[in-house]
Amino acid sequence: MTITKNEITAWLKETNESKLDELWHRADKVRHENVGDEVHLRGLVEISNYCVRKCGYCGIRVENRSIQRYRMSADEIISCVNDAKNFGYGTVVMQAGEDFGLTANFIAGVIRRIKAETGLAITLSLGERTEEELVLWREAGADRYLLRFETSDSALYEHIHPSLPNKKSNRFEHLRMLDRIGYEVGTGVMVGIPGQTFDTLANDILLFREFDIDMIGVGPYIPHPETPLWQESDGLSLPTNRNQVPNTELMTYKVVALTRLVCPETNIPSTTALATLNTESGRELGLQRGANIVMPNITPTEYREKYEIYPGKACLSETASQCNFCMTGRIISIGRKVGRGPGSRRKKSVD
Ligand code: SAH
Repeated sequence: MTITKNEITAWLKETNESKLDELWHRADKVRHENVGDEVHLRGLVEISNYCVRKCGYCGIRVENRSIQRYRMSADEIISCVNDAKNFGYGTVVMQAGEDFGLTANFIAGVIRRIKAETGLAITLSLGERTEEELVLWREAGADRYLLRFETSDSALYEHIHPSLPNKKSNRFEHLRMLDRIGYEVGTGVMVGIPGQTFDTLANDILLFREFDIDMIGVGPYIPHPETPLWQESDGLSLPTNRNQVPNTELMTYKVVALTRLVCPETNIPSTTALATLNTESGRELGLQRGANIVMPNITPTEYREKYEIYPGKACLSETASQCNFCMTGRIISIGRKVGRGPGSRRKKSVD
């Protein structure tokens, strides 16, 4: 039975706890029936914090001069990927700012080495790169690409994610291009960005259904003091702010659960941003309300604090090995199993 936009909006506005228990149960049941009890682990390597963009929400935007920039070498990346392989992860995710210092050939070389040396599935999350680059990387062996559309309100999108000169940013077009090239595509949105209304968020959730999506990541928007949106972020969660979606933990669980109902078979991570709002049990609650993926951070500790897209990020001072131990413990503690292998939704391109 499909869920309508009115129903989605009603759930987003629901405050009654016992009513919400119904939503959590439904999402958990749909998750269990469609993707099972295994939780797949995808090792996240944050390979560079250089970025050409001026995104209003993001702490590694080009205009933030207070962070030290880094770019990992191929050997450093491969060493992290070997950790992932040893921990039994089936996939590595290489994420970065939009950094053209990560040249097409450099990334293609790293992809070929990862495939040759570990055979792991490879996900890229490197922003809006050219078609030529994306084709080269796909041919080199990359399997998936993550690019959140952030919001489906085009005016709000341009406000929070200004286009580069002479090139209009259109992430929906980019997602279609990635799909055409043969990537499994992941997308998602932030919950509670200033200016995001319940109506827009309901549209976002319905749009997830339109793409044949491998993964949908949703996390709360967390204001960063070194960004323009910081100024606009006062009072996001005040009940007087009637149309504004609050950037709360509860709202994020609702979006995770509704995303599961809309896309029963997709992979949904319980995100680090969620764990940042509730370090105690955010990961577990995400997994119990629709999610089936976690992305342990395998970035070397010295670089983690420099990849500060938002402040107070969970797991900042941990090593890859500590993150692995912690994540597997959390999965087992809620009666779920640690998944092995790439955890691919569409088997054709990865297995
Ligand atoms: N440069 C890449 C990777 C960006 S980081 C890209 O643009 O796709 C990955 C995600 O982190 C972003 O897509 C955004 O949704 C999220 N993010 C960035 N800043 C954030 C913030 N302040 N609070 C919460 N999530 C944030």
